[in-house]
Amino acid sequence: MDKIVKGYWDCPYCGNKGMSGLEKRCTNCGHPQDEGTKFYLKQEKEYVDADKAQAYGKGADWTCSYCGSLNRHDAVVCVGCGADREESSGDYYHNVENQHKKAEAKKKADEELHEQLSGLKQSGGFKKRLPIIIGLALLIAIIAFSCRPKDYSASVTAKTWGRVISVEAYKTVQESDWTVPDGGRVTEERNEVHHYDSVLDHYETVEVQKSRQVQDGYDTHTDYTDNGDGTFTEHTYETPRYTTEYYTEEEERPVYVQVPRYATRYYYDIDKWVQDHTLETSGSDNEPYWDDSGLADNERENGRAEHYKVVFTTDKNKSYTVETDLNTWERLKVGEGVDIIVQNGNVKEVNGQPLR
Ligand SMILES: [Zn+2]
Ligand SMILES: [Zn+2]
Repeated sequence: MDKIVKGYWDCPYCGNKGMSGLEKRCTNCGHPQDEGTKFYLKQEKEYVDADKAQAYGKGADWTCSYCGSLNRHDAVVCVGCGADREESSGDYYHNVENQHKKAEAKKKADEELHEQLSGLKQSGGFKKRLPIIIGLALLIAIIAFSCRPKDYSASVTAKTWGRVISVEAYKTVQESDWTVPDGGRVTEERNEVHHYDSVLDHYETVEVQKSRQVQDGYDTHTDYTDNGDGTFTEHTYETPRYTTEYYTEEEERPVYVQVPRYATRYYYDIDKWVQDHTLETSGSDNEPYWDDSGLADNERENGRAEHYKVVFTTDKNKSYTVETDLNTWERLKVGEGVDIIVQNGNVKEVNGQPLR
């Protein structure tokens, strides 16, 4: 299926473009194809006549080391200067490889130069970014300014306190479990569901959607190789093409049932310490106290908690409620004038003393 296709070349001497690769000399100025010649294809492919095609694709042109002309593989002397084939300086592929290497080296040198230049420009980049840097600094300054601590003259307008004692009692309580703990007095036994087991009951048939790749024809591809003698060889080949086919298949699937498993559950009375009640006191005076009214024989304390709050009202009539420790709370008197520092809506200091 391989066919010979015409290549094309440009004359480096007079600039004439798109000449047939079969023309060994420029049709305009007569300059021969030489070591700088690179054959290429056009969008429209032109096949070489079958009888002529026999002569192509047999070997790359050789380059005369004296005049640089390209000569057909079977020529024994240079068409340009008559030198012997023995004096060849490589062939067409060798030339193309050299051109490629030169182009790569130039590209690399250009890149290095570009890097050096952009490195020099970088130092000037700071000037461009200066407005952004100033803008950011300004923004940070505004935020810092609005979040800064503010001083106020204020007075203590209210004080409150609250105290809580948590009380446990030793009592008889009803509980139930699968076992009876020490001290439990069983009052009832019941047969109850302890857990469920998954048990295979039967199989059912279900339809399952499946897919597979099936071949439905071929895709034709064409590519070209440079023969190095002014022509290209066109190769055509096929690859199989696939489509996705969907089908259903029957599958057996297990079906399970949930079977209850029974066990004896014990209901029992047991004596233990349980949370019972709290003793709470509170007020807005200066005399906080605990409710020590006493505990019954079967009761005991289970922790205490206390809370002290002060309300400050500024001369701009804005109020802040603050939770403090007992010492601070006792020191502050209702009606007393104080200096407070407020930051982010919270009182941070009172008369120069940090709060908690
Ligand atoms: Zn020319
Ligand atoms: Zn020559």
